[in-house]
Amino acid sequence: MFHAFTAADTPLLEAVCGHIARNFEPVALSALVDSAEAGRSLPDLALTVTVDDGYRNYLEHAHPIFRRHRIPVTVYSVADFADGQLWLWTDQVAYCLDQTKKSSITAAIPPREPAEFDISSPHARRAATEAIWEELKLVPDAARQQFMAALSDLTGVEIPPEAPPGIQAMSWDELRGIAAEGVEIGCHTRTHPILSRLPQARLDGEIRGAKAYMEDRLGFPVAHFCYPNGRDIDIGDAAAECVRSAGFRSAATTVWGLHTPDADPMRLRRIPTGTDQSSGYIFELLAGLHMPRHFPEEKAALAA
Ligand SMILES: [Zn+2]
Repeated sequence: MFHAFTAADTPLLEAVCGHIARNFEPVALSALVDSAEAGRSLPDLALTVTVDDGYRNYLEHAHPIFRRHRIPVTVYSVADFADGQLWLWTDQVAYCLDQTKKSSITAAIPPREPAEFDISSPHARRAATEAIWEELKLVPDAARQQFMAALSDLTGVEIPPEAPPGIQAMSWDELRGIAAEGVEIGCHTRTHPILSRLPQARLDGEIRGAKAYMEDRLGFPVAHFCYPNGRDIDIGDAAAECVRSAGFRSAATTVWGLHTPDADPMRLRRIPTGTDQSSGYIFELLAGLHMPRHFPEEKAALAA
């Protein structure tokens, strides 16, 4: 599981792709799901690569490398992001905390008590951004939207209608272009909400509606879904049922893990990798050696 890439990531990505090509059997997600549905086993070291969110930085910095190494990739696109209607709310929080002239802010995220965040240094800003993200992922979606509506005033930063360079989305044309070169395009909702925090009435639009909208824009079926944030607590039973009934063939989570042949394609586990990690650490992750530090609930579950 990858998310975003920069030009500086090229050497790392070359090393990781070379390692995958030499040591694993890269397969397309559809092939993996075909095998699961047919009860067939894949090669022992089958591996598939997914890239969440549909940032253009995939096209610019990663697509040529995966392609050269013949590693199939699935990109999960956020429909309204690709459409130019919004940019990701997590990026907006990071942008505002990065651009603000303030040295601290008091964030009120109901039902939580207002909390003061130090943002006087780059390190503190990063910590505050991550803390606010985590809070916003846990509250009802209406509370998140209320906080986002107040974010500009809170930080004194004007939020541009379009995402800044580096964190923009691939357009429908660009998505069709990489699809023509073998990338599978999956659905990552319309607006990237945390589905378990949404009222039931909005689930259909974010899941079934996103699928139909993407298929209309792309001109081909979109068979694979990816849950925003993807932990069990972010998914919820109602959303899982909606994804199943919408006709998706697979659904990816962020729950850490490798797969056995009896894996459920509607609850795919993944190995989170980031370009902030060393190649050696990523090789170890791919070998199944680490439980990543930022997935404490899986770690606790495994220890139990
Ligand atoms: Zn995402």
